[in-house]
Amino acid sequence: MTAPLKPEILITKEEIEKEVARLAQEISRDYQGKHPLLLGILKGSFIFMADLIRLLDIPAEVDFVSLSSYGSARVTSGEIKVVQGLRCPVKGRDVLVIEDIVDTGLTVGYFLDYLKKRKPSSLKLCALFDKPSRRVSVPIDYRGFTIPNRFVVGYGLDYNERFRHLSDLYVVED
Ligand code: 5GP
Repeated sequence: MTAPLKPEILITKEEIEKEVARLAQEISRDYQGKHPLLLGILKGSFIFMADLIRLLDIPAEVDFVSLSSYGSARVTSGEIKVVQGLRCPVKGRDVLVIEDIVDTGLTVGYFLDYLKKRKPSSLKLCALFDKPSRRVSVPIDYRGFTIPNRFVVGYGLDYNERFRHLSDLYVVED
């Protein structure tokens, strides 16, 4: 690693593998006999999604959306727009949103509201990392790790587009 920052491991790739397998088992059990639409939020969820779907033993459809905040505030404003929208119709589908990390919950909360208006037959949220200390309000149906309020990178998560490729999860210290 060539970073001037000193990322420290918070969660190892072995622990992540185990947790993704546990989540996949739970999801497979709950969606038995169904054909859910898994909607990943880009960019951070792409590695989690790729690992998760390969461990499901149900047929699932996959799509991704890209969300971004209005303006350039560093803190999530809650005013989010869907940049790259849905290709798959949501109406009447069992929709499971796949998110890498939930912090305040504003981003995914907006997206869940957006989806609800499109009348899915069910709507749930799966998040691999949860930072509950700053949460506004959002129900997480499938939760992986609860982590402290620190900035993390790796396993799809970036710092200025770096570190997404790392297999472990790291805390970035300033
Ligand atoms: P929220 O709207 O829940 O406050 O923020 C959600 C988004 O902020 C996540 O989808 C993610 O893109 C980004 N985010 C929040 N916390 C972290 C973090 O610790 N590391 C990284 N890389 N991104 C984060």
